[in-house]
Amino acid sequence: MTNPPPDWHVLAATVEYPTDLLIDGGWVPGEHRSDVVSPIDGRVITDVAYADAASVDRAVASARRAFEDRRWSGMAPADRKDVLIRWSHLVNEHAEQLAVLTSLEMGKPAREAQAIDVRACHRTLRWYGEAIDKVLDEMPSVPDSSWALIEREPAGVVGAITPWNFPLTLETWKVAPALAVGCSVVLKPAELSPLTALYVARLGLEAGLPDGVLNVVNGSGAVAGAALAGHMDVDVITFTGSTATGRAIMAAAAQSNMKRPYLELGGKGANIVFPDADLDKAAAATAWAVTYNAGQMCTAGSRLIVHESIKDEVVGKVLEAMAALQPNDPLRHDAPLGAIASARQLETIHSIVTEGLAEGGHLLMGGEPVLTESGGSYYPPTVVEGLNPHSLLAQKEVFGPVLSVLTFATDDEAIAIGNATPYGLASAIWTNDLNRARRASKGLRMGTVWVNCFEEGDLTVPFGGVKQSGFGSDKSLHALEKFTNLKTTWIELS
Ligand code: NAD
Repeated sequence: MTNPPPDWHVLAATVEYPTDLLIDGGWVPGEHRSDVVSPIDGRVITDVAYADAASVDRAVASARRAFEDRRWSGMAPADRKDVLIRWSHLVNEHAEQLAVLTSLEMGKPAREAQAIDVRACHRTLRWYGEAIDKVLDEMPSVPDSSWALIEREPAGVVGAITPWNFPLTLETWKVAPALAVGCSVVLKPAELSPLTALYVARLGLEAGLPDGVLNVVNGSGAVAGAALAGHMDVDVITFTGSTATGRAIMAAAAQSNMKRPYLELGGKGANIVFPDADLDKAAAATAWAVTYNAGQMCTAGSRLIVHESIKDEVVGKVLEAMAALQPNDPLRHDAPLGAIASARQLETIHSIVTEGLAEGGHLLMGGEPVLTESGGSYYPPTVVEGLNPHSLLAQKEVFGPVLSVLTFATDDEAIAIGNATPYGLASAIWTNDLNRARRASKGLRMGTVWVNCFEEGDLTVPFGGVKQSGFGSDKSLHALEKFTNLKTTWIELS
């Protein structure tokens, strides 16, 4: 029997959480404090400690000490596994608190945060915990007079910098594999979502993570993030966020100690609908793909690329589906869509729409902020058609519930339009012709292509982009490679 959902408003008023930095196993105040504002109603929830470069230094030094004395990397893999699995259970036990905090700080429906974000956090910790003692090293065949060992050694101190759109999921996709292989971690969560990161870290301590193995330094990207990316004693930097920040992080890595950067960046995903597709399914997925999480997804299907012969029919169905997906208070059980993560993000979305419409195009739905009387940040599903594939709205990542409709006449043209952005993260193809599906999936330069589905994923399957969407996938056993170095040892036998 499943428990009835909680009253999210009551939980929001009573939930307790840490607000200091986590360094060396202790909660410390940082250099100053910064307000956390809820996009639900524009109110200040609390303030949190912010790290300047000095606190980042202390966190890195603590992670380095923990790594060098092998208090974690030297633990038997089976014991590290126990800690991660215990942590995953604690996340489950605190699912409602984590869900309501996610909702409070970044505005997605609490119901969804529990079903998707908290579940992903729990499962990722469990999956990498379970994987720890299943990954084997290699002993190749060499002449009898020698042994050669190829071992995966933990890379050392990992800096993780993460965004706010799926805070728990994206933090755990980085922290769990890094810890699984024995690295120490300094996590810099997004400014908009510090509370969930601190809460989960506290559960990690409770699960038995030794002091200094996981440090959390909230702070601004320009100060704390930049200090971590440019630090001389961080071995690997793993990042999810915008392409512009990814570029700065790569430059900082190169200019400091040449730490390895792994970048999961922006996207401009598409649903490409061919005339032979199941149009109802394609339209429902298109509506969902750009409105889920209020469109604040790197994989958002923000372009509908549809054959000209079926454009009106498909767009009609998309509009009908979207009409039901209007934003509301995310602490209500029935809110189909929540808030936009911040007033600034709302402003960004609206200014891209306004600027895009000034270039041409025809607004079919939405286009203005809503629920302004709430004091929060809400934007409705917005659809624009009649756009040129090179126009602003067809090119720029909006990171909001904004769909650009583009048309094509031939299969080659569909693929060319699909590829005609600087990004290469993920897109979907809708067709019932297997040959066409295969040609199109081969033709699209994307990290992920979905055929007749959208946003399918599993921990066993890597997730990452190509082109300016970045490199170095999260998830799956492949993610472990990012946090290990290959070490060769030759032993001459007598
Ligand atoms: P952002 O790049 O503004 O911030 C991401 C993180 O980087 C934050 O923690 C921020 O504080 C930090 N940061 C900012 N400037 C920095 C600097 N100079 N040096 C070091 N760190 C710095 O992105 P955002 O607005 O938080 O998130 C939205 C972006 O993330 C979108 O572009 C989206 O596509 C992308 N994203 C990508 C994926 C993916 O897997 N490819 C997933 C989710 C989000």
